[in-house]
Amino acid sequence: MFKFSKSFERKFNKFFPASELVQNLPYFMIFKATHWCWYNCPHCCESSDKNRSKTFIPESVVKYYVDSALQDTKFCNNVIITGGELMSAYEHHDINYVPNLINYITDKNILLDLKTNGAWIEKQNLQKNILQDLISCSNNHRPFAYQISLSLDKYHPNALENNYKILKEFAQNKELKQSMLFHISGFDSDKDMYEKLLLKLKNTYNISLEKTVDFTSGQLFDILNKNIFIIPSFSPAPFANGRAKNLSEAKPTDFPQFNFLGGSPESLTLLMAFDAAGNVTLGENSGRKITVPWRDKNNNPRPLDEIRKDLVIKTKLEEIRVKIKTFFLPNYIER
Ligand code: SF4
Repeated sequence: MFKFSKSFERKFNKFFPASELVQNLPYFMIFKATHWCWYNCPHCCESSDKNRSKTFIPESVVKYYVDSALQDTKFCNNVIITGGELMSAYEHHDINYVPNLINYITDKNILLDLKTNGAWIEKQNLQKNILQDLISCSNNHRPFAYQISLSLDKYHPNALENNYKILKEFAQNKELKQSMLFHISGFDSDKDMYEKLLLKLKNTYNISLEKTVDFTSGQLFDILNKNIFIIPSFSPAPFANGRAKNLSEAKPTDFPQFNFLGGSPESLTLLMAFDAAGNVTLGENSGRKITVPWRDKNNNPRPLDEIRKDLVIKTKLEEIRVKIKTFFLPNYIER
């Protein structure tokens, strides 16, 4: 069979910078565990709501890909689990889904980020179990073994109240023995909501609030009762994908299919997102997607190295398609 020499292949690949990145960059794995959500925020890139399927990525599938990634030198030891709403697993799937995955992933010293809208704090039937699980998962691991990410913006219903109640519960909990990390994200126009949140916490009986800077990273933390560390972050505007396409303030991205990088400019990483519908997509919130299936025809998870190779091929095809389009239509911009 005809084979390209390595040097020819390298020269040929120079015409495909995006697929080069997909092939060579270290990667994060994101699991969009379900598409279902209690809310239907207008800025939702995933178009999640109560009408979406209640299907979850099986626990065994997440574990399979975590184990496969650990054999791969390109995996950068970071996993994000999100949705839809992850904590709806307690109602629709398996009450052990979240704690089992936290324990499995953090036991392997992988950095884990759990994203939740916090709506469960208002639900009597869920609140106690979820708080207990998150606290015991923290107590059983090193400090900051995993991070909880909460959204604080004008689009999420009750965001300020939900964030406040969750942080208050953790800060005042006597059973929590370990330091925990929360990431609170919003948009630049909602920065005042973060200030209101801190003020509310500061004025709460039994809660102390202080600020500190990690001098190596320059990261600013707000700390509640010495063991709840909060990192705030704000971005300019929502991505114009999913339902957010209808928002005038959402920013469309040119060639969104190639918008799949994360990390800082010095240490770029690739975002690879597995979803509950059976797809792996490059980028967390890209518009036009570069996607391949993670299931084979018998519904079993496909090997990770096959998926990675298919993503490189798909990206190359996408680059060819865009090159042809922009050759004939020089001003063409895809959104
Ligand atoms: S943005 Fe988050 S909370 Fe809002 S509908 Fe989408 S998944 Fe649910």
